[in-house]
Amino acid sequence: MLIKDNFDEALKFSESTNEFLSHYQIPPSPVNYSVTYLHISKRNEKLTAELERHVQTFQEVDLIFIEGLFEKYISNSHVIDRQILNPIEKSLTSTLEKINLQVDNVKTSTSNLKKAEKALSKHEHHKSMQNIVAFLMKNIASSQQQQTDLSLNLTRTCGEVSFLKSKLKAASNEVIVDSLSGLYNRRGCDIKLKELDIEQVHSSLAIDIDHFKSVNDKFGHIIGDKVIQRIAKVIKSSISDNDIAVRFGGEEFVVVMVNKTKTQAYVVAENIRLAISELKLMQRDSKAYLPKISVSIGVAQREEELNWTAIFEQADTALYQAKNNGRNRSVCL
Ligand code: GH3
Ligand code: MG
Ligand code: MG
Repeated sequence: MLIKDNFDEALKFSESTNEFLSHYQIPPSPVNYSVTYLHISKRNEKLTAELERHVQTFQEVDLIFIEGLFEKYISNSHVIDRQILNPIEKSLTSTLEKINLQVDNVKTSTSNLKKAEKALSKHEHHKSMQNIVAFLMKNIASSQQQQTDLSLNLTRTCGEVSFLKSKLKAASNEVIVDSLSGLYNRRGCDIKLKELDIEQVHSSLAIDIDHFKSVNDKFGHIIGDKVIQRIAKVIKSSISDNDIAVRFGGEEFVVVMVNKTKTQAYVVAENIRLAISELKLMQRDSKAYLPKISVSIGVAQREEELNWTAIFEQADTALYQAKNNGRNRSVCL
């Protein structure tokens, strides 16, 4: 049976995965497990080839190498979803459907047998037949109970897979999102850039908070962090959902604007800059207002032959011009 084959196959892969992990003394963490599972189940040829080459060369597998494979081949959660969890979920769901169908069939048989028992009970000379029907009903009832238990177990396991999927989504989000600002971090930026349609026009903003060191010096790091959060909020609310907002470094942000020329991106840059310059930030304890915060912004457009590093460098050059020209301004290259 196909479903059983899938289930047995997945179980076999899972056992071999555990054997592999214990052989090389690798802890069965989600990262290590998923890399090994993909290798064992031969679902990713490149990953398997690279891992086999490594084993041949070094006769061992270390954690850094496994993490590297994870980064390279499966750090995108949809790969884990597609290659590991979705097949398991699919096979569980169809097994569950079959069992539930059987449970229904048994219910119908039981009801038919009950009718037969009722009919037979009207005639004393059918006593032996009645006994046979009672015997059959008893047997069916016990197998019905087993199927119901199995169905409950599978439902629970399906729930666990869904839970794993949601945990995986949250965990992979954690890896690509900066926890302070809620914007993408550099890794998230790399991943999101790969998803963009290179044929479209893209522009980029490099945003840096002006004289931020003095905010920290005067008000402390915690207030400094709050300022970063507020600025991130302004940036996020000034761009469209398709655009990518990144906290690139401490108090530096990058925005990649999808389908916008540098002229259009400049308008957005100015909106961000003005909105930030109008922020009124109050220190909660002392109720004192912070001095005005401003940002400088460099704007650049991706030329056809340019790669992302080049557009970011251009935006950075524009940003330095903005700083040199007196800060609190946007400069477009
Ligand atoms: P400029 O106008 O030239 O950009 O001046 P600046 O003071 O902003 O630039 P500088 O690069 O000298 O200082 C950046 C400061 O940002 C230094 C550091 O204390 C602060 N910073 C970097 N990351 C964080 C962070 O995560 N939280 C806080 N609170 N401060 C940070
Ligand atoms: Mg800076
Ligand atoms: Mg700065």
